[in-house]
Amino acid sequence: MQYVGAHVSAAGGVHNAPLNARRIGADAFAFFTRNQRRWRAAPLTEEEVAAFRANCRSCGYGPSQILPHDSYLINLGHPDPEGLARSRAAFLEELERCAQLGIAMLNLHPGAHLGRSSEADCLARIAESLDEALSRVPGVTAVVENTAGQGTSVGYRFEHLAMLLERVEQRERVGVCLDTCHLYAAGYDLRTWEACEATFSEFERIVGFTALRAFHLNGSKARFGSRVDRHHSLHAGELGCTVFEYLMGDPRFDGLPMILETVDPARWPEEIAWLKSLAAARAARRTQVRSR
Ligand SMILES: [Zn+2]
Ligand SMILES: [Zn+2]
Repeated sequence: MQYVGAHVSAAGGVHNAPLNARRIGADAFAFFTRNQRRWRAAPLTEEEVAAFRANCRSCGYGPSQILPHDSYLINLGHPDPEGLARSRAAFLEELERCAQLGIAMLNLHPGAHLGRSSEADCLARIAESLDEALSRVPGVTAVVENTAGQGTSVGYRFEHLAMLLERVEQRERVGVCLDTCHLYAAGYDLRTWEACEATFSEFERIVGFTALRAFHLNGSKARFGSRVDRHHSLHAGELGCTVFEYLMGDPRFDGLPMILETVDPARWPEEIAWLKSLAAARAARRTQVRSR
């Protein structure tokens, strides 16, 4: 079974995230453990931590169903020593917050070279950043997301993700999240079943499914290969819906959180229900085939 959910608001405190997720019928959720557009964050209080843990327990969200996202300001591949140090300190703090909250995974965008270093050097710095942070905080897996390749971001090729996984020493504590909008914008076609087969067999060959920890399910406002990161609702935009039919209920992706970051939160309940219905229909077809 896959866990379907969305990136929900934690306004008013992290303990609200699981409640917001339950309200929309989600089996999984993402959220920011702090204000994602500021460098400084007040430490979590014991009360906040206890309330978050209690709400996750009462709403039935376990470790594979919670995937917080790190701050957009963090760039673990920053080319300048000062910028890199600031990002590394902020990332460490985010990992610590996850550990406090009893969360097993932290989703991150790999980083950008800002035009001041090669992609390879940027990826090497990211790997080093991950190792440094992970060695200081046990129990949390860093889940690196593929990017659209906007600006000078790295992580838009499967080869980049593979390079990161190869370079980190704590290989088993680094995973990958695939975002459908980012894949499409980066030039991995997903518009037809055949295109999905080709894209995912390339992923399997270069990165491997064992590293896969999560999906972000998004439509795309930007065109194929445009390297522009603009999410859309599932039933709108350039991407079409085939990829969601392809992913939902596929046993290769069992046990993974499938998180919506689509643009219209009012549609999340129906988008979640639709994705779950796709998975159920796929499962029913499999049982039919087996019993024939
Ligand atoms: Zn995403
Ligand atoms: Zn995006």
